Amino acid sequence: MLGLMQDWPLTCTRLIDHAARNHGAVEIVSRSVEGPIHRTTYRELHERARQLAKRLQRQGIRLGDRLATLAWNTWRHVEVWYGAMGLGAIYHTVNPRLFPEQIAWIMNHAEDRLLFVDLTFLPIVEKIWPRLQTIEQVIVLCDAVHLPPTTLPRVVPYEDWLAEADADFAWVEVEENTAAGMCYTSGTTGDPKGVVYSHRSNVLHALCASVPDMLGLRSRDRVMPVVPLFHANGWSLALSAPLAGSALVLPGPKMDGQSIWHLLDSERVTLTAAVPTVWLMLLQHLQSTGAGLPWLERVVIGGSACPRAITRAFEEDYDVRVMHAWGMTEMSPIGTVCAPKAGKATLTGEARLDLQAKQGIAPFGVELKITDDAGTELPWDGRTFGRLKVRGPAIARAYFKAETDEVLDPEGFFDTGDVAHIDPDGYMQITDRSKDVIKSGGEWISSIDLENLAVGHPDVAEAAVIGVPHPKWDERPLLIVVPRSDTQPRAEDILAYMQGKIASWWMPDDVVFLDEIPHTATGKIRKSALREMFRAHVLP
Ligand code: ADP
Repeated sequence: MLGLMQDWPLTCTRLIDHAARNHGAVEIVSRSVEGPIHRTTYRELHERARQLAKRLQRQGIRLGDRLATLAWNTWRHVEVWYGAMGLGAIYHTVNPRLFPEQIAWIMNHAEDRLLFVDLTFLPIVEKIWPRLQTIEQVIVLCDAVHLPPTTLPRVVPYEDWLAEADADFAWVEVEENTAAGMCYTSGTTGDPKGVVYSHRSNVLHALCASVPDMLGLRSRDRVMPVVPLFHANGWSLALSAPLAGSALVLPGPKMDGQSIWHLLDSERVTLTAAVPTVWLMLLQHLQSTGAGLPWLERVVIGGSACPRAITRAFEEDYDVRVMHAWGMTEMSPIGTVCAPKAGKATLTGEARLDLQAKQGIAPFGVELKITDDAGTELPWDGRTFGRLKVRGPAIARAYFKAETDEVLDPEGFFDTGDVAHIDPDGYMQITDRSKDVIKSGGEWISSIDLENLAVGHPDVAEAAVIGVPHPKWDERPLLIVVPRSDTQPRAEDILAYMQGKIASWWMPDDVVFLDEIPHTATGKIRKSALREMFRAHVLP
């Protein structure tokens, strides 16, 4: 017997329909690429997204076509998302921080038909234009007045192009499993891989990620995704904010500490989200100016492990609750958030920081397991670490154009490439990437734990730990340190600082100093480059 409830496909346009109808006057505030602060509402955004869908239809865009964006977080970028999805087309956020050759490769692979580009990234497009095989037209996200001279053919300014259609358009009805969005992982190994979100996965993810123990979005929140829309589905905030009716504050091209603080303060942002590097810049700004964060209630920190010093500063100095989160592009992206369960909410001081160092608990819709290399499941004892695998309705089962490649284990779990332990309460903690973990005498040493410890030393600005070949133990840890400016720490001082805080066999065998550590396009340490650099390093 079937249930007798209505058939209401989970399509993303329903998110913006809901926001426009129930929260129509709620603001979307953006720092525009042209400079001034721009204000609009869900009602206007809904209207302009329909206008865009109609304009795209006139252009000949059809169900399943891919539309690339090279753009900052602004209202226009969000319009492109909803306008594309409203036609059954697919928003494809491309990361402008990738190498130009990679950007061209990704757009050709996705066979994007149109490219929406911010003024900032026009020079990149000019450079790669001869190599772009499928882009029919470049639409620059500005008006005619701001359109600079360009060598590109057939370029149009967005506002004028959009004005050629009106908003009298009904969303094209699509089946809920229809593709809605695309995002390529940066591909530190091999070619980038295209993750294809569906309407259903986006809606379910936004719902599951919005419950109180996860992002806990409310209609009275003012949410600032500093994390770019082009990074891992923008952590889904452009989907979950309309679902909750929260205001959106979008930082546009300015991501420095001063600009971020200015928006947090002037727009009274209550919840914000970004990678640790952004928060480091903000905290430095606050410390040097004496400014505070009177409106901000919660900060979501993820993308890489959140250093304890950042959590401590937000919580103790600025009274902002830190929500450490873990996820990946393939997971839409949120996998866990560190929320205090009953019995943990009263923790204070170091015990609270210990909890917040963990990446947290899974929401409904994300199943976790850890296994050994043979695939045997490992216990949730908070000590045993293994390969972290995930299953759920908003987790990839295959990559674009590789639909037959089996990326799942026999039980349908996706291997995240992370190594983690999980405690009996379900709190997961990442201990490494599976390719970065240091294998010493058959035992595993977590490079991340060592890095987190080393950055606690006052003279250490950044630290990376890699395994280098060792005749007896296979691999031993080498600590690579970027000293803070105007300091000259000595190796023995840093090692003395670490001594006693970890098992003695985890202690790095050597410390080397660099002025700079190489990073990936998403700001993560490029360990492959470091391994190459120190391949022949002789340990003492
Ligand atoms: P990219 O490699 O393009 O940045 P992702 O954003 O999908 O792609 O990266 C996901 C990876 O980032 C995860 O598999 C994990 O290794 C790392 N990561 C994300 N959040 C955290 C976190 N809170 N702590 C440690 N690692 C994290």
